[in-house]
Amino acid sequence: MPEMSEFQVNATAAAYLVSAILFIMALRGLSSPESSRQGNMFGILGMIIAVAATVLSPDIVSYQWIIGAIIVGGGIGFMISQRISMTAMPQLVAAFHSLVGMAAVLVASGAFLNPGAFGIADVAGDIFTASKIEMSLGSAIGAITFSGSVIAFLKLQGLMSGAPIVFKGQHPLNALIGIAIFALIGLFAYDQQTAYLGLNAFWWLTAIAFLIGFLLIIPIGGADMPVVISMVNSYSGWAAAGIGFTLQNNALIVTGALVGSSGAILSYIMCKGMNRSFFNVILGGFGGEAAGPAAGEGEAKPVRRGSADDAAFILKNAGKVIIVPGYGMAVAQAQHALREMADILKSHGVTVLYAVHPVAGRMPGHMNVLLAEANVPYDEVFELDDINNEFATADVAFVIGANDVTNPAAKTDPESPIYGMPVLDVEKAKSVLFVKRSLAAGYAGVANELFFRDNTMMLFGDAKKMTEGINKALN
Ligand code: NDP
Repeated sequence: MPEMSEFQVNATAAAYLVSAILFIMALRGLSSPESSRQGNMFGILGMIIAVAATVLSPDIVSYQWIIGAIIVGGGIGFMISQRISMTAMPQLVAAFHSLVGMAAVLVASGAFLNPGAFGIADVAGDIFTASKIEMSLGSAIGAITFSGSVIAFLKLQGLMSGAPIVFKGQHPLNALIGIAIFALIGLFAYDQQTAYLGLNAFWWLTAIAFLIGFLLIIPIGGADMPVVISMVNSYSGWAAAGIGFTLQNNALIVTGALVGSSGAILSYIMCKGMNRSFFNVILGGFGGEAAGPAAGEGEAKPVRRGSADDAAFILKNAGKVIIVPGYGMAVAQAQHALREMADILKSHGVTVLYAVHPVAGRMPGHMNVLLAEANVPYDEVFELDDINNEFATADVAFVIGANDVTNPAAKTDPESPIYGMPVLDVEKAKSVLFVKRSLAAGYAGVANELFFRDNTMMLFGDAKKMTEGINKALN
C-alpha cells in the first residue's frame, strides 16, 4: 500500500472534518420542516466531500471495482427512486439498512482473512487485540442489522405475517445468545487461531449474530414496526462506526456514530409516542401481544353515513376545523385536494389547523412530508402534545385516512394492543368526520368504536375523491 505524504494525511483529515460538520448541520436542518431541504443539501455535500476524499486517497490501488460498484449501485438506486411510492418507504429503508449491515460483515470478514492489507496485524500476521474487538463488534452488529432489517422488510412488505411470532423461552434464549456473542468476542480477542467445532470464534460470533437479529425482530408486532425501523437504523450506524475503527477511517467512525445515536434518539422519541419501553425494544422483548379483532364491514352496530355535500355543509358552518391526516391520505395522495379544501374553508373565515400524530402514516414524519409537498403552511401544522387540548374547542375534527392514532381504546382498554399509546382526542370535537373506505381497522388491527358514536359521521370513499367532492360542494 503506498504511503501517504503528510500533506495527503492532513488534507484527507481536513476533508473528513468538513464532511462531519456538514453531516451535523444536515441532522440539525432535518429536525424541522422549514430547514429540511437545506439539511438535505448539507448531507449531500458532506457525502460528496467524504467520498471524494476517500477515492482520491493514495490508499486506493485500483479504480475498476469502485467505478463498477458506483455504476451498478447508483443505477439500481436511481431506478428504485423513480419507482418507489411514499407508502413503501419504510420497507425500502429497512432494505437499505440490511445492505449497510452486510457491508459491515463483509469488511470485517475481509479484514479477518487479510489483516495485513488493513494494517491491523503484526509481521507474524497476529491481529492487534484492539482491532480484533473492533472488527468482531462491527461484524456482530452488522449481522444483527442485516437479519433484523430483512425481517422488518418482509413484515412491512407483507411477504411475512405482521403478527408477532412468540415462543416459550424466547427471552432467556436471546439473553443466552447475547452472552455467547460477548464470550466469543472475548475468545477471539484472546486467540484468533483456535477453531471451536471446526469454526473460528470470529465466524461463530458472526453466525449467531445473524441468528439473534432474526430472533429479535420476529416477536415484534406490526404496530410497533416504526420503532424497529429506527432501531435497525441505529444498529447500522454502530456497525459502520465499528468498521470505521477497523478501516482506520475517521469519516466512517463519525458518520456511524451520528447515525447510531440519532437512530437511538429517534427510537426513544417513537417509543414515547407509542408508549413503549426503550429497553424492551432494544432487547426485542416487546410485541408479544396479538392484534385485536378488526371491525369488519359487516359490523351490526349502526353508523351515521354522510356524503360530500353533508360534509361540506358541516365544514362551512364551523368556526374551527382540525384536520387529522393518516395513512389513508398518503395512499390516496389526497394532500393537494386537502390543502385546497383548507384554502376554501379559510376563505369562508374558518380556522383550519392540522394535527399530526408522531406515528401517523407508515414512517416518522410521513404526514409532515406530504403536507409540505402540498404547500400547507408550517404554522398550521401541530404535533400531538401541542394540539390535543384544542379538540375540545373545535367544531369539526376532519379525520382523513387516520384510524389507530385516534382510537380511544388506547386510553380506555387495558387489554388493547395499543393501550397506553398517546392518541389524538378527536372525539372531544363537536363533530367528527371520518373519511375512509369502510369500517375496516387500521394498521394495528384494532376496532375503533369512534365510528359508532353519535357525534361521528362516516364519509365512506377514497380520501382524494371524497375531498374533491367536498371541494366541489364547497365551491
Ligand atoms: P391506520 O393504519 O390506523 O389507518 C389508516 C386507515 O386509512 C385505514 O383504516 C383505512 O381504512 C384507511 N385508508 C386506506 N386507504 C385509503 C384510501 N385510499 N382512502 C381513504 N382511506 C383509506 O393509520 P394511522 O395513520 O391512523 O396510524 C398509523 C398506524 O401505523 C399506527 O398503528 C402506527 O403504529 C403504524 N405504523 C406507523 C409507522 C410510522 O412510523 N408512522 C410505521 C409503521 C406502522 P379503509 O380500509 O376503511 O379505507
